[in-house]
Parts: sequence; C-alpha cells; structure tokens
Amino acid sequence: MHNFFRRFALLLAPVVLAACSTVAPSPITASPMAAPSSGVVSAADPRAAEAGAAILRQGGTSTDAAIAVMLALTVVEPQSSGIGGGGFYLRGTSTGEVVTLDGRETAPAAATPAWFLDESGSPRPFGQAVVTGLSIGVPGNIALAAEAHDKYGTLNWANLFAPAIALARDGWEITPRFRDFLQSSPNRAGLTAEGRTLFYDAEGEPLAAGTVVRNPALADTLEALAEAGPGAFYHGPMAEQMVGVIAEATPGTDRMTAQDFATYSATWRDSPCGSYREYRICGMGPPSSGATTVYAVLKQLERFDLAALGPQSPISWHLFAESQRLAYADRELYLADSDFLAVPMTGLMDEAYLAQRGALISATTRMASAEAGTPPGAALTLAEGSEPTENGTSHFVTVDQWGTAVSYTSTIEGGFGSGHMYGGFYLNNELTDFSFVPERDGVPVANRVEGGKRPRSSMAPTLVYAPDGSLVLAVGAAGGGTIPVQVAKALIGVIDWGLPVEEAIGLPGLYSPGDAITVEEDSPLLAMRAELEALGHTIQARRLPFKANAAQLVGGRWTGAADPRSEGVAVQP
Ligand code: GLU
Repeated sequence: MHNFFRRFALLLAPVVLAACSTVAPSPITASPMAAPSSGVVSAADPRAAEAGAAILRQGGTSTDAAIAVMLALTVVEPQSSGIGGGGFYLRGTSTGEVVTLDGRETAPAAATPAWFLDESGSPRPFGQAVVTGLSIGVPGNIALAAEAHDKYGTLNWANLFAPAIALARDGWEITPRFRDFLQSSPNRAGLTAEGRTLFYDAEGEPLAAGTVVRNPALADTLEALAEAGPGAFYHGPMAEQMVGVIAEATPGTDRMTAQDFATYSATWRDSPCGSYREYRICGMGPPSSGATTVYAVLKQLERFDLAALGPQSPISWHLFAESQRLAYADRELYLADSDFLAVPMTGLMDEAYLAQRGALISATTRMASAEAGTPPGAALTLAEGSEPTENGTSHFVTVDQWGTAVSYTSTIEGGFGSGHMYGGFYLNNELTDFSFVPERDGVPVANRVEGGKRPRSSMAPTLVYAPDGSLVLAVGAAGGGTIPVQVAKALIGVIDWGLPVEEAIGLPGLYSPGDAITVEEDSPLLAMRAELEALGHTIQARRLPFKANAAQLVGGRWTGAADPRSEGVAVQP
C-alpha cells in the first residue's frame, strides 16, 4: 500500500464522520478579518516552486511567478513540460475577473486529416508516429508567456529567466521520479545523442538519483530568450533550426516551415464558468475539453446529496463514475479546436441540458450504456475519434500578494515529448492528441488533424469562487485524460466533503471514461469492489497517472497543496 493511501486510511475516520453527519461542510470563504495573504506557489518540483516564490519575493505578480515556474520546469522536470511545448493559463482576480490564454501547440499549415495515416490509409502505430516530426506542433509556451507578461507582468522579462538559467547552468539533482522516467522511456529520453549525453552514462544506463546534471545548451537558449525577447523563439536562427530538426524527423514531404513558427500566436479566450452548489467554477474552453468535462461531471451530480454520502460510501464513487461516463461521451464527440468547427459550448454548459443528462444516472444501478447527448446548438454530425492516451504534463498555481491567482497547465504531451531535442529541451509530441482516424464512414471526427489547428486537450486549469464571490481555490492536474476527473474529485472533496484541498487531492481515485472503471491500484477504493460490481460495474485496478497541484484560501491565507503521489510541493514566498 502506498504511503499516501495509508495516510488516507488514517485520515478517513474523522473525515467520514464529518462528511456523513448532517452538518453541512463549512463553506470555504475568505475571513473578512484576516491579514492580507502574501501568496503561494505550488508546483510539481520543489526547485520550480522556489523559482516562482523567488519572483513573488521580488514583488512580482502571479503571472511573473507562473512564467518563472514554467521556465524552471523546463530544466528540472524536462520529461513533462517546457518551452518545447504549450499550455493553458487561467488568471483570476480576487473579485471575479477571469481570463484564459491558449498557448496550445499548433499543427503546421501543411497538415491534413491524413497526417497520421500510412500509405495504405491506416492509422500509423502510436509508438512509431510519436518519435517522428509528425507529432511535433509549434510550441506555444514562450508566446503564452510573452502575451501574459505584456498584460499582467510587472518584473522585467529577463528576471523571470534567472532562476531557470541558474538551475541549468549550475546544475540540479536528478530525483527518484525523474530517474524512473529515464528508466522507463529510454527510446524517448535518449532518442537523440543530446538526450543520451545529458541523462545516461557511457553504458546507456540512466544517471542515478542524486546525480547533478548541468545543461549548458539549455542555459544558453534561456539566456538568448531572456536577452533577445520571445520573438527570437519564433523568428530567425533559433526558429529556423527548430524547424530544421522537426522537418528532418518528418516522413513524407509535407512538413513544418519557418512560416508556421512566424505566424504562431497565443490566443486570449473567454473562460467558461458555471455554478456548482453556489460556487462558481471557471475553466479552460476549446481547444481544451477541460472546462466542459469537469463541469459536466459535477453538474450531472448536483441532484445527489454527495455531502451526506461522504467519501466512504461506494454510492458516491458509483455516481462519480457514472457521471464521468456521460461527460466523456460528450467530450469525445463534440470537443475540438473551436476555430475549426462550431463546438456547442453554451449547450454543453447549459444547466437544463446537464440536469437532463444527470437524470440518466441512478444511485442503484449502472446505466446500460452512456451515449453522447445532443446539447442545445449542436449542429454537426460527428463521429467518435481515436486519440492515444497521454502521460506527461505539469500543473502549477501561483497566487500573489494582491490575491490574484494563476492556474497554468504546461505540457510537452507524453514523457519526454517526441524525444527530439533542440537547444537542451525536448520538443513536444502534442499533435498525437489529435484523432489519428479522421472520419468514420464518411462522417468527420471533430478532433481530426487540419493545417493550423490545435489538438484537443484534457488539461483543466480551474479557478473556484465561493458563494460570497471571493476567489478561494485554484487547481489543476497532469495525467492526460484523467485530468478532468482529478479536478472534479478535488472539487467534490472540497465543496461537498468539506476537505482541505490537500486531502481532496490525496483521496484515492477512479477513472471511468468508458465501459469499465479503472480504480487506482493498491487503493482503499478496491475494498468497495464487491459493492461496485453489484451495481453492475466492471472493475480493473491499474496505476493512474495522478499529479495535481492547488492553492486554497483558508481563513484569509493562501496555502498550497501538492499531490502526495508526486514530488510536488507548495512554497510560501
Ligand atoms: N497532452 C495532454 C493534453 O493536453 C496532456 C498530457 C498529460 O497530462 O499526460 O490533454
């Protein structure tokens, strides 16, 4: 049994008593008498969290700090995210203003729906496609950072790079988790000579945990971007060389060009927000499926008294699994880049529609099948796609002295992205988040590849406002398709079960996007197997790639939380 599950089991007794009592969980609101909060940073790596905290100490905003975290993660958690990838940024003020910025990687103009098909018209095997240039989209994180900094940053752009440059130049210790990644993904981490030299010894063995790694190529890249500004990433020699690396790795003649880099921009988008039990939940809309999926999972359950059931009731977990099935059926059919097709966002967030979907859920038996619904405004006839599962990414949260929070999920998609490197960092494989299958029986798949399109994401940076309107929670996660489920679980834990977010994140989990429920292996939830099977479920136990980070306003002070399954921490400036 993992340590955190042991802790969970110990924790459960008082928690369950509280959750099952008739007393409603205490609402999470700011205390009017509280001293002003100095902020917090929560990230998947302590050195990256410290980079953000250092920026807050200099008087930077949550945006400044978030950019510093994103850059530092490029150095110390290179398997998960970085400047070779993209991300989604959500910024919320203490009084309710929320904006989102889409820095998702983008397919080259030359890409077509047949991008991942071989000569015979069949989808290429994932393992083969991922290590080619076909999987690499134009990276968006530097453009995102530049846009966000222009609008909401106060410190000098170059300052934000200083912690990351120091880590890359002076060295950082390999952690046990990173070593495991090196061990399990030599074909990606060590695809290139650059990767092998950085992270493997002469015999091809991964460097041991505790080894200090220096990455001077990355220090040079970061220094160049700090000095020359973000434009240097998208125009001129750096962009041309990246395009060269990608083109060389791409089979066929259709490929990335310098023009694809030059025309990239991060895009401001409205944040879809909706109410759940008096709380206002704001998330990331298309090209992410994050907001709609988290919201559907919650809203479809609103008629059930989850607070009374509590986390120890198998019925709670049954309901949670059923709601996921419905939400993922809709996500699969409708969600994709809304610049390329009409995504029925209003319909998918519509309270009456979600109540009607929720009415399909029974507390006493499993639904025979969970099909996609027809949300108001859904005009297109679409077919279900086929996207491979993912397993990378990093979420982080920064809150500044003004109580403004940034909830930012950054990714290079799978562990070590495409495996291809440039200038000391890994280039993403985000384009494998597209459906490899472009159509079924002539019916198009929403998330098929198209030139200039952004692949559908599961990333779900989220902000929560309390009934009194104050910002009280920022949360998000890594873990591919499981991300919306992790976020929804955290929100049910906090809102319905009255748990501090750290415990809500630490709760064991299950994932039910289709016909079977995957329960986290070694989890105390497996003790509910018989009850869940009696309700009609098929249960499988597997490791789930959970890794969430959050910050919560408690008694007027922001405190951070990191997943007990991870190496993440929260740091107060
Ligand atoms: N590429 C995935 C997405 O955008 C995230 C990958 C992961 O977290 O493993 O949804």
